[in-house]
Amino acid sequence: MITVSKRLETIASYVLPNSRVADIGSDHAYLPVYLVKTGKASSAIAGEVNKGPWESAKRQVQATGLGERIDVRLGDGLAVLSDGEVDTICIAGMGGTLICHILEQGLHRLSSVERLVLQPNVAERNVREWLYNHGWELQAESILKEDGVIYEVLSAIRGNPQEPYASSEWSREIWFELGPFLWREGSSILLEKWESEQEKARRVVKGLEKSQAPEAQEKKREMSHRLEWIEEVLQCLRTDIR
Ligand code: SAM
Repeated sequence: MITVSKRLETIASYVLPNSRVADIGSDHAYLPVYLVKTGKASSAIAGEVNKGPWESAKRQVQATGLGERIDVRLGDGLAVLSDGEVDTICIAGMGGTLICHILEQGLHRLSSVERLVLQPNVAERNVREWLYNHGWELQAESILKEDGVIYEVLSAIRGNPQEPYASSEWSREIWFELGPFLWREGSSILLEKWESEQEKARRVVKGLEKSQAPEAQEKKREMSHRLEWIEEVLQCLRTDIR
């Protein structure tokens, strides 16, 4: 039985059986190998922009004997794909801004794609906003912790992008930050994430206190406002979790 990290397993859980999958930024090709071996993917394309990781991916595919079903391609983002080749795209283990950039640059290659499974390491809010603005309906989210790091996985389909943001409890901008499904689930890991955001904001405010520059004062006001908002978020989460 093949095993992968909890993070990759969570990503794989959003891929429907027999999908034709592209994993963009595939490094060791662990995800495509896992998807094909478990029957989640009938075929897969592993895309890599850097030669070293592309070579590792090729070696891994060769070693597992899956060369007939996994094609490892060298290229930037979705440029490795031809029209109609895949129905699912996974992009994991990079910043949310880069994920959005890859999707934006490859918009014309998304026509046959029915599902996006995205795992931004940071800037998750940008990814939710990108999905919303480009007609993708966020359908599910997971938050998990592995080796001391918290990860979020977002799964989206073509549909009604407004659907997950229908509640008027917060503005859409705030939902992009919180993650509507993560908020509804209200897990202890989400609480931990926002405690860490609080700590980061506190450190920034403390650093800004030392500066006399007018821009620093403005930034400090902004961050203090964010800190108040995070405290509100934490209060809600603590009440819900108890
Ligand atoms: N997706 C794997 C995972 O989640 O374990 C590997 C993550 S690794 C940190 C990020 C990979 O994305 C690197 O191997 C990097 O070379 C690749 N990458 C970055 N920008 C890319 C792009 N524009 N197109 C394809 N691959 C890219």
